[in-house]
Amino acid sequence: MATINSNFLKLKAGYLFPEISRRVSAYTEANPDKAARIIRCGIGDVTEPLPSAVREAMHSAVDEQGDRSSFKGYGPEQGYEFLRQAIVDNQFAGLGISADEVFISDGSKCDTGNILDIFGKGNVIAITDPVYPVYVDTNVMAGNTGEADENGAYDGLLYMPCTAENNFVADVPTEKADLIYLCFPNNPTGAVATRSQLAAWVKYAKANDAIILYDAAYEAFIQDDDVPHSIFEIEGAKDCAIEFRSFSKNGGFTGVRCAYTVIPKSLSGRTAEGTPVPIHQLWSRRHSTKFNGASYPVQKGAAAVFSEEGKKQVSALISHYMGNAKLFREACLALGLSVFGGENAPYVWVGCPEGITSWQMFDKMLEEAQVVITPGSGFGSAGEGYFRISAFNSRENVEEVCSRLKALIS
Ligand SMILES: *Cc1c(COP(=O)(O)O)cnc(C)c1O
Repeated sequence: MATINSNFLKLKAGYLFPEISRRVSAYTEANPDKAARIIRCGIGDVTEPLPSAVREAMHSAVDEQGDRSSFKGYGPEQGYEFLRQAIVDNQFAGLGISADEVFISDGSKCDTGNILDIFGKGNVIAITDPVYPVYVDTNVMAGNTGEADENGAYDGLLYMPCTAENNFVADVPTEKADLIYLCFPNNPTGAVATRSQLAAWVKYAKANDAIILYDAAYEAFIQDDDVPHSIFEIEGAKDCAIEFRSFSKNGGFTGVRCAYTVIPKSLSGRTAEGTPVPIHQLWSRRHSTKFNGASYPVQKGAAAVFSEEGKKQVSALISHYMGNAKLFREACLALGLSVFGGENAPYVWVGCPEGITSWQMFDKMLEEAQVVITPGSGFGSAGEGYFRISAFNSRENVEEVCSRLKALIS
């Protein structure tokens, strides 16, 4: 009989979003008259259509595929030069990143999970609490953890609590870590790190020979001028960090699929014997063995995000979602709730009213207002007592949710 990867058996069955779906289905079955009233502010998926600059570029790329003279088969596994160069010119100008340090893929979720292929066993993995669940579950699958306790915390992971006291930005730990997951602007809390906070992380990573896995999927939502957009804005980061970015949330590519990972050539890990090995070389080998490139029309669409029209259209999308976030923030503040995030990120992180747990708040919002939010505790035990509202929605829905919130709590 074929043996299985028994690490999968350590994964908790009741994963957050399936549990949300289960409760929503149970509610609509019991209350069919209320089903049409439900507004989902739960899952972090975009709602607004794909920008026309992107669609036009994709249409013409499809037409190219229909003509023998411009037809393209397999492209470079790392991505087309036109896109890698456009990314460097538009997102990393002046930061000393070159196009061959950018690896195009079909998603950051995949990249942040797949990156573990190139790291060895026995690394101390530092993870924030609350956290984007993908970082945790992929480490469980890779065998980097023990079993989960009753709160869902895995043995062997170094959890870094993010609380109102540290403004939801993890403090540099006193313990030694080897791989550190950071996500700014943050999902789920909407927090951003200042330049000096990121500099402290880079300093820590260099002092401990650690590597920072920096997820900047929400970079485009940054509004404040002094908030860093890339970890590579920090001196020394090119020796200790990998950055993940995606077209999902800025260009609305969640259904189209395109992302990229930046691995500076100066970044090294070590063999068990202590010999340094460039990470770039390992990821290049991994990517070209297990991935055959993102589709040509999709990469053309992604490059169009950086065209003049594309930039204007993406900026309008971001303004729309950030306008929603502002309405949610104001509505929750007016109710006297403690409110975080939503200023440089499409997520608003809200303290539940006194004495109410995250899941109780979820049920209350569903049953009394027909609004689906995400319970903070689903992202880790430090998220207990909070809920996340996603600003990915139409303005009409957001205004409706704000008025229902008012009626619910006041
Ligand atoms: C949405 C999101 C991503 C992007 O994932 P894709 O696979 O590129 O769609 C990455 N990281 C976080 C934290 C996210 O919320």
